[in-house]
Amino acid sequence: MVPTPPLRGTTLQAPLTGLKGVGPKVAEALARLGLETLEDALFHLPLRYEDRTRVTPLAAVRQGQQVVFEGAVLASQVSFGRRRSLVVKIEDRSGLATLRLFHFSKAQQQQLRTGRALRGFGQGQVGPSGVEFVHPELTFLDGGAAPPLADRLTPIYPTTEGLGQARLRAILLGALGSLENQDAEALGLTDTLIADLRHLHTPAVGTDLHTLEAGLDPAQRRLAFDELLAHQLAMMTARALLQARPAPALRGDPALTQAFLKGLPFALTDAQVRVSKELAADLRKPVPMLRLLQGDVGSGKTVVAALALLKAVGSGFQGALMAPTELLAEQHLKTLGPWFAALGISLATLTGRLGSRQRNALEADLADGRLAVVVGTHALFQERVRFHRLGLVVIDEQHRFGVDQRLALRDKGASADGVPHQLVMTATPIPRTLAMSAYADLDVSILDSRPPGRTPVTTVVLPASRRDALLRRVREACKAGRQAYWVCTLIERSDHLEAEAAEETAEALAKALPELTVGLVHGRQKGDEKAAAMAAFSEGATQLLVATTVIEVGVDVPNASLMIIENAERLGLAQLHQLRGRVGRGAAASHCVLLYQAPLSRTGRARLEALRDSDDGFYLAEKDLALRGPGEVLGTRQTGTLDLRVADLLRDQDQLPEIQARARALLASDPAAAERILRRWLGTRQQFMNA
Ligand code: ADP
Ligand code: MG
Repeated sequence: MVPTPPLRGTTLQAPLTGLKGVGPKVAEALARLGLETLEDALFHLPLRYEDRTRVTPLAAVRQGQQVVFEGAVLASQVSFGRRRSLVVKIEDRSGLATLRLFHFSKAQQQQLRTGRALRGFGQGQVGPSGVEFVHPELTFLDGGAAPPLADRLTPIYPTTEGLGQARLRAILLGALGSLENQDAEALGLTDTLIADLRHLHTPAVGTDLHTLEAGLDPAQRRLAFDELLAHQLAMMTARALLQARPAPALRGDPALTQAFLKGLPFALTDAQVRVSKELAADLRKPVPMLRLLQGDVGSGKTVVAALALLKAVGSGFQGALMAPTELLAEQHLKTLGPWFAALGISLATLTGRLGSRQRNALEADLADGRLAVVVGTHALFQERVRFHRLGLVVIDEQHRFGVDQRLALRDKGASADGVPHQLVMTATPIPRTLAMSAYADLDVSILDSRPPGRTPVTTVVLPASRRDALLRRVREACKAGRQAYWVCTLIERSDHLEAEAAEETAEALAKALPELTVGLVHGRQKGDEKAAAMAAFSEGATQLLVATTVIEVGVDVPNASLMIIENAERLGLAQLHQLRGRVGRGAAASHCVLLYQAPLSRTGRARLEALRDSDDGFYLAEKDLALRGPGEVLGTRQTGTLDLRVADLLRDQDQLPEIQARARALLASDPAAAERILRRWLGTRQQFMNA
């Protein structure tokens, strides 16, 4: 690589090796941070700031505050408390403070002798004996003028081993310096953008630290806008690229659809009819559909998916339905199997449970088109799985799959007919603002009403100390011919520990309720075991099912009318709502008991109370977002693709409508500018968006 002198006529793509102090070793460290070009460096923004611009009087230090302080040593001595430490008392005009060093040398001990004047920087811990600084940075002020304080807030950057803050800061300052006397426009930036970057890398004295830390500085808000715009552009571009490819036009077979509807034991709800029409309109076009179907737990998404799959089958194509767990795949097979069998449509499940003979046969049937519809888990992603003519992929419970997996299945189905249509279904309603940014590449349909004939679930919140009283309730419900779930949860999402807890609970409950048949299902069981446990419960052979959160999605046993969730405070709202959705599926009045371990935190209480008071998944999702933030709501997979540097979806959501409009306008009027913004924020990560 030939280093480009980063002065006049520089470009944002100039390699950082052209900057002072960037030799091969440093360049390597920078590359580990994803920093290779001038542009990368400019947009490598501080994580936080330190205020080293002024000295704070010792008496004014607040708990947790990071400050520069000055004082003279009053006394110093080695203390042999729980841990040996050097304790140094200092004093300024306002008061006293303690410096504590757990590791110290003889030399340091001597340096910190009485009367010595020093300046320090550290985080104040305010305790009963006043302010204490543990291992502060120290300089001695012996005679003469004190060295000058910083004239800017000190930025602290994300960094990597072998590259200290000071070195990184100097390099980034160099990068900023190389913008001097450059024409912003020629660089593909704007004057405002450059001023904002300069401000955020080197905030002037007087810049409000709290505003910066809250991400509410106007410069941060403008950059957040730019960053979210980049993501929006990436998703829109990915979508445009995909939709530039053809898809089979699936008109379906009206006779088949009619026969299907006639065979159903119920009539579709208005919402199901409306959404089915939206899907049919998409599927008819020779452009790949990309649609998200949001419908609360129990809103009847499966029938809608079945109708869409019929469109594929009726047009001579295959359909695939992906579920996140084997349990859910089994459940779909159980529901769809009879419906499709009645129409003479072949259906099979492909999961990790299949023996290799069955599996080979199934794969052969898929590859030559003998099998019309396949239901499966992520086993469907595997290299060897081939389709004859895949027309539609339905992905259930999207929040369990990442965007990349969705892309993989799409590519697998690509053929001479084009790429398959995609329907993504989720029962975790995603707040509108989040959907706008995290799923900007999908059209959205909403099932906003539930089938008639269900009684709402009554939810109660109880401390775990009332567990025994609950046993009576379980006994009574089961005596009355109903069934119950007992859900065990753990903080650590370890299958192993969770399974153990469930096993112990099942044993204890079987002892406490000897007249009941107690079943057990958890994530560590073999597929057959799990399926057998579910089948026994589904047929009514077991009355009480002890389960881990594996039953969260899709399980449908209408006779179950009571659910007890232990340690409910440990789960998110959306997950609790999902779990609760397993009851209230039949005509009987249903109950959900949320057991918590006292004491309950404020947000913990707010969460459980929201759940007790509402059965509306959308309301709960908004609430969850407010209580926990977007990362949790979407699940880690999705946030991985929305890896934001400045923006915060929750904080900056008010900007989203404008961002979306801007993205559209830019793509239409100035694709080159759109490309620049995209590269600025997403750099190399963009490849995957274009995959
Ligand atoms: P989800 O949206 O949670 O996947 P399901 O598709 O599992 O919901 O449907 C929940 C239950 O409602 C199932 O037992 C299903 O048979 C039933 N159901 C679906 N649509 C209707 C309808 N229109 N009328 C009556 N019951 C329905
Ligand atoms: Mg479902």
